[in-house]
Amino acid sequence: DDLVGLDSLVDNTAYLRGLESDRNKLRILRVPLTLPKPKRFSALWAAAEKTYESLCEQQPIGRKLFQQFLLTSDPQCVAAAKFLDELSDWSFAEDGTKEKAKQRILSKFCQPQSQTFLSYLTAEDVKLCLSHSDKKGKAAMELMREATRKFLKERPFLEYMKSPFFYRFLQWKECERQQITDRYFYEFRTLGRGGFGEVCAVQVKHTGQMYACKKLEKKRLKKKGGERLALVEKQILEKVNSAFIVNLAYAYQSKTHLCLVMNLMSGGDLRFHIYELGQRGIRMERVVYYAAQIITGILHLHSMDIVYRDLKPENVLLDGKGQCRLSDLGLAVELPKGKMSCQRAGTTGYMAPEVLKQEYYRTSVDWWALGCSIYEMVAGRLPFKDFREKVQNSEVTRRTLEDDCKFEGKCFDGPTKDIINHFLKKRVVFRLGCRSRDDDPRTHTFFRNINFHRLEAGLVEPPWIPKPNVVYSKDTEDFRDNSEIKDVKLDAKDEKFYKEFSTGAVSVCWQWEMIDSGVFDEVNNPEVNGHGHENVWT
Ligand code: ADP
Ligand code: MG
Ligand code: MG
Repeated sequence: DDLVGLDSLVDNTAYLRGLESDRNKLRILRVPLTLPKPKRFSALWAAAEKTYESLCEQQPIGRKLFQQFLLTSDPQCVAAAKFLDELSDWSFAEDGTKEKAKQRILSKFCQPQSQTFLSYLTAEDVKLCLSHSDKKGKAAMELMREATRKFLKERPFLEYMKSPFFYRFLQWKECERQQITDRYFYEFRTLGRGGFGEVCAVQVKHTGQMYACKKLEKKRLKKKGGERLALVEKQILEKVNSAFIVNLAYAYQSKTHLCLVMNLMSGGDLRFHIYELGQRGIRMERVVYYAAQIITGILHLHSMDIVYRDLKPENVLLDGKGQCRLSDLGLAVELPKGKMSCQRAGTTGYMAPEVLKQEYYRTSVDWWALGCSIYEMVAGRLPFKDFREKVQNSEVTRRTLEDDCKFEGKCFDGPTKDIINHFLKKRVVFRLGCRSRDDDPRTHTFFRNINFHRLEAGLVEPPWIPKPNVVYSKDTEDFRDNSEIKDVKLDAKDEKFYKEFSTGAVSVCWQWEMIDSGVFDEVNNPEVNGHGHENVWT
């Protein structure tokens, strides 16, 4: 038993050191990265996707290199680059400083006598911007942004593609497309176990970035017929791009496993925080903060016609900073406009009346589950099922369909009761989030202290921060599973499926990893890594 304890200690120590090196961007452990020469097919790729939006706005490395190009170009381009920079600061400024920032932008970029005047603005544009500057600050900024974009899309963009900056971009793309294998990562302890295998912490050797790797055992998948579900989960994860949903960074295969590499959530799940840390329930300030982040994640899914169907505190994970994300999209389903589902899916205690009655439903079920989850975070029990109550599913169903939600003896304040009651309307047409096309739960007074725009940009301080020296997970020993799948043979058809699954790095996520870890700046510094200016394909 002592030896087991020792193993656990060793596992935890290695894992915590991995987290620390990620946090502090320690460079000693990194395997250095050198950029390859772009091959021919990079050029082909670029030709197929040569849009300004993709190359200079959406892809983080593309945006950075384009900006660097502008700053070394003529004064008009320099002014445009500086304007875009200040515009982004302005959009995230707090209300108190926002007006001042706007005035600064107008005087720097919109006054013809200013050195950084955006000379592509017409006299008409200038008049419009300055005359409306009091009331319509946003409109003026939008007008300048559009004019800047229109300008940049033409000559500067074409010149950029002939510049060494774009050659460098192609080199990064080449690197992004490399084949991913187990050797790309260091592996640390197991953090959890799912239906098809374990989830463990991993670290990218080049960048020091920590991730969680969900490993699906090939034989187990085949035996249980889970291949299609795994692919659906992977495709949905890959599509979403939100600060409040675990994002996919890599999908690859080893000899024995299919692997999904996602954000590492080292702060534990909300179920753990409600029940396992002494007093049941979570303090109100945290409940509001988590609910706001959960809503933002759900709205993102719904905007892509994806219904989550498994919202519950257990599936909401905290990262090292105390921000939360939705995880386990294994039950999520894509329902294009007009399409509905009547499949019974979800977890007992969180399923909406329309699911229990096997009626057709779409996004309404997620708002019901959010009502249950907010109730649970506050009270340490579910609205229709008490903590540790032994009760048949049929009774929970009966209560869900017939009973009113009660708020006994707990510290529910007015707005909290109100928002829960509105999410727990049994009829969909009366439910918060479902009452009209643009019924927006974010406007409820429950969220009066949340600035959602700043929240989405990660600028609102979390009300609680996980301790850096604590592992918020059970001992590794508890996840051990020695069962072996025999009598399953993998064939050529399986191989084809594995290839379809193993698409490697996910572009935007990978580019952010390079930037955030500092590797982009290190490698890009021409003094350290000069490659000459040959540029053969443009
Ligand atoms: P399954 O779909 O098979 O239930 P999950 O995606 O729920 O698998 O993962 C299993 C467990 O692994 C979770 O309960 C959680 O403890 C842990 N886990 C999953 N994803 C992460 C992550 N991104 N970061 C940290 N732990 C995770
Ligand atoms: Mg799960
Ligand atoms: Mg799942």
